[in-house]
Amino acid sequence: MKRRRCQMCGRAIRRDQLAVFVAGRPDGPAQPVSEPPLHADCAAYALHVCPRLVTGHRAGQVCVAEAAEYALLEEHVAQGPDPSSLITYIRAPGERPAVTDAPSVLQNYLALPAAPWIQADRWLDAGN
Ligand SMILES: [Zn+2]
Repeated sequence: MKRRRCQMCGRAIRRDQLAVFVAGRPDGPAQPVSEPPLHADCAAYALHVCPRLVTGHRAGQVCVAEAAEYALLEEHVAQGPDPSSLITYIRAPGERPAVTDAPSVLQNYLALPAAPWIQADRWLDAGN
């Protein structure tokens, strides 16, 4: 995700190409996703053949965002106030977290596409 590579074919998504994100029904327009982007052709192929997307519990609820750019966020895990607890928080790279000063471990990258989410069926019907 950090290197703008397609999660299906592994090749770079050039800056003149849109990065396509596929997710279950997003909670809102600014929903970060943990799945890396895809080329448009790779996303269309996945939406036709991936059992998880076609027949799983997400079928019919899958959305797509085509974005020229996306913000990269970090999901961290740190020890909570109770030594036996862990807290998870999201921050921009290099941003100081507001929730804890405890050392943390980078758990995952998240992407925040700079584009609206649309129903995957509508995206495919538009010629993708
Ligand atoms: Zn690809």
